[in-house]
Amino acid sequence: MARVAFIGLGNMGGPMALNLVKAGHQVAAFDLSEDARARAVKGGCAPAASVHEAVSGADAIVSMLPAGRHVRSVYGDENGIIASANSGAILMDCSTIDVDSARAVNKIAADADFEVVDAPVSGGVAAAEGGTLTFMVGGSEKGFAAADPFLKAMGKAVIHAGSAGAGQAAKICNNMLLGISMIGTAEAFALADRLGLDRQRFFDIASKASGQCWSMTSYCPVPGPVPGSPANRGYAPGFAVAMMLKDLKLAQDAAAATGASTPLGAQAEALFALFDVLGGGSKDFSGIFELLSGSWQTKS
Ligand code: NAD
Repeated sequence: MARVAFIGLGNMGGPMALNLVKAGHQVAAFDLSEDARARAVKGGCAPAASVHEAVSGADAIVSMLPAGRHVRSVYGDENGIIASANSGAILMDCSTIDVDSARAVNKIAADADFEVVDAPVSGGVAAAEGGTLTFMVGGSEKGFAAADPFLKAMGKAVIHAGSAGAGQAAKICNNMLLGISMIGTAEAFALADRLGLDRQRFFDIASKASGQCWSMTSYCPVPGPVPGSPANRGYAPGFAVAMMLKDLKLAQDAAAATGASTPLGAQAEALFALFDVLGGGSKDFSGIFELLSGSWQTKS
């Protein structure tokens, strides 16, 4: 079994680190938050007082941080991962960040002779806890092969998307599609309500007709048809509006940088930004149904 360093023990990173412990690895855990560190230690991780302490002597290093600037600094700082890691350690960044930051981190790692992969995930906190995440991996064949057994301990699917940055590219394209499809599904239910259709019956039909999609059948934005969906618990996340907005902004930045035409992605970003300023930022993203159906205004 390997010595693993885990940096960033939040909603996602905390349970991911515990799955590495369950797989038999020795995990040294660091987070700026003492509470997050204490939870990881309770689950069997060894505490580390800094990035430097966590990664010294590790065979594998995983980071799960909020955004590109955190990843750049944890990797590139004076006592960061590149300066402190053992030569030969495999580096895996599982955060969702912009493609430019992913490529920049890959470059400083490659210049220092490390194998590094960008390996963002699909699946929320429940999948992180259950070890059923999907990893989309960017990096060399060698880096992918070295990362694969560690990622498999935390997920059900590990897919090589291509070279450095390809994992982040796949992630933001997927989440742009998810944001758009959730708005479409919510709009369809809002119209069905106005037309007097029973929600369950509309679900029974649409989930077997050509409107079928994950936002409908696995994460239905109205209470009832999919008992586990956040709509049944007052839209407690799950995957918060603020997180979806972050991913949609990354998609729009990438579209602007590459000249891609993504008008529905732009509209989805605008709608989630509106929901955010109206106070919906901490709701699950499927709560956009309340905005589109008009029930949000009457409640708040
Ligand atoms: P979170 O805010 O719960 O956790 C981030 C953790 O990073 C925090 O505990 C914070 O203290 C720590 N941190 C920040 N800077 C640090 C530093 N310099 N050194 C050490 N620790 C530091 O966020 P999360 O929900 O766990 O999300 C993490 C990443 O996963 C994000 O990039 C997010 O977009 C992505 N993601 C989240 C979900 C989800 O459903 N929450 C799903 C898929 C992907």
